[in-house]
Amino acid sequence: MNIHAKTFTEILSCPQCASKNMLSAENGMHCPTCRALYPIKNSALHFTSSDDGTIQRYTKEAGTFINLLKAFIKKWPSLFVFLTYAIGNISYLGQKPNKTIRKVFGDRSEEKILINIGSGITRVHPDVINLDIFPFKNVDIVADAATLPFKDNSVDMIISESTIEHTPNFEKVIKEMRRVVRPGGFVYISIPFLVPFHASPNDYTRLTHEGLKQQFYDFTPKKIGALGGPASALVTLLMYFFALPFSIISEAMYNVATYFFMAVLSPLRFLDLIFYLFPRSIEVSAIIYYIGEKKS
Ligand SMILES: [Zn+2]
Repeated sequence: MNIHAKTFTEILSCPQCASKNMLSAENGMHCPTCRALYPIKNSALHFTSSDDGTIQRYTKEAGTFINLLKAFIKKWPSLFVFLTYAIGNISYLGQKPNKTIRKVFGDRSEEKILINIGSGITRVHPDVINLDIFPFKNVDIVADAATLPFKDNSVDMIISESTIEHTPNFEKVIKEMRRVVRPGGFVYISIPFLVPFHASPNDYTRLTHEGLKQQFYDFTPKKIGALGGPASALVTLLMYFFALPFSIISEAMYNVATYFFMAVLSPLRFLDLIFYLFPRSIEVSAIIYYIGEKKS
């Protein structure tokens, strides 16, 4: 699915007045009820504008050294992905969204409406529509996850990878996800559990596997597991533990030390291959994922 398909524009609703009668306008979408205009800029449909304060708030938080460095490296998406896997702190051995899409929809995914909320630059599957608060490369819809521009019960699958913890109003964001997925539709959610504070651009919350089940109470859990298990949690804790003394010197030294110890300790995370065999590992995991199907 892409944002120009008629079946997609039909599910749009106005995030400002909740009108369901959105119209295609010249180079964008138009709400006839509140007269809001949502332009297409650089092939992305923009539902938040630079004058409503949202972008400025996030941009200010994104202005720290490490976030600027990340944004810089993200100009080469494949380099960013390579670095994440090569010297990362998380093993990412659990089931990922692209496999979930293949398992759930098979070769029918092209006709389905699949939305990745907080996608960043990553296109996890060619049929997925990317949504983010920032107009990164590969983002199709620029919108706030707390006011999704979609009708109730209209989306076949919502994907959200390590995004919920970065939203200041996470319960509202989850409520929106639950609202827009159709009965029989799916969510794939991943969220850190035992991972220290990480601003990207900020960090507000954690959820356990039981917390995810409770938040998505009108969904049937299909699969719950760890993307990064106990070894990933240990590596992540240790890299901050060893880097902390450097924060006396300067913020920049602390950041450099964090990345240094991450690179040194990162091979340890593959102990997760063993820990995945132990049933209680989910209770000591770095990042957990939840796949649920909305009840009819
Ligand atoms: Zn409107």
